[in-house]
Amino acid sequence: MGTTNRTHPRDYVDAVTPRTALIMKVHTSNYVVRGFTATVDESALAEIAHRAGVPLAIDLGSGSLVDLASYGLPREPSPQEALARGADVVTFSGDKLLGGPQAGLIVGSRACIGRIRKHPLKRALRTSKLTLAALEASLALYRHPETLAERLPTLRLLTRPRKEIAELAERVAPAVARTVGERFVVERSDVQSQIGSGSLPAEVLPSAGLVIRCRSGRKSCGRELQALAASLRALPIPVIGRIADGALILDLRALTDETAFVGQLPKLGRPATL
Ligand SMILES: *Cc1c(COP(=O)(O)O)cnc(C)c1O
Repeated sequence: MGTTNRTHPRDYVDAVTPRTALIMKVHTSNYVVRGFTATVDESALAEIAHRAGVPLAIDLGSGSLVDLASYGLPREPSPQEALARGADVVTFSGDKLLGGPQAGLIVGSRACIGRIRKHPLKRALRTSKLTLAALEASLALYRHPETLAERLPTLRLLTRPRKEIAELAERVAPAVARTVGERFVVERSDVQSQIGSGSLPAEVLPSAGLVIRCRSGRKSCGRELQALAASLRALPIPVIGRIADGALILDLRALTDETAFVGQLPKLGRPATL
């Protein structure tokens, strides 16, 4: 129906047949469509679905339960809004912006949730007690919005001030340079955090970190950086960087235990010479 970049109410109306059981809209969690675009807003979609006698399901992917804009972050649609606009079923993840354990959440009208509950697949896909306990603990933090940014690690790290991260980079850079300095140049630098994980694909947050480059401009530099990245990942507490523009970038936004980070550096195996 329509095209990949432009869809209109008519496309949905024309696509409905007696065999249609559901209209589903999936949020563009990890890509953006820019330029000559048109989408059908959710209220209009709900009206089309209900007129056709079928439910509207919206898969939000991430789905933030709080207004991220009030924390100075980019906006992400919420399950509450989707329901208010007439969706019968809304699905979202427990472990993306919600900040809880890996789990899929289904919310919606009593009638739809009742049907899902009775379906045999529901039993096959039901979650474990440990996941439920972790999810409950995460959701309980939302009862106290005033302390959420402090107590929910996901939100705490997303709202971590750039200055604080820059100071952290300043403090740990010498230790990293001592460990890998023979072969690599370690520089503190402003970097950009990608929120990722199926949310806000086009948005980045100003952050700070270490940018590690090869001392020599040898051809093998790419492989040396790969080897260093692999040995960092193999540390007792894995350190995960990304390689871009000929450098290994360690964004320090998510580093909270500075002592442990520095303390395990001597365990960094000397990357194999390639
Ligand atoms: C992430 C994502 C999912 C899957 O959610 P998980 O609970 O993480 O498996 C589904 N749909 C969309 C649009 C997503 O972004």
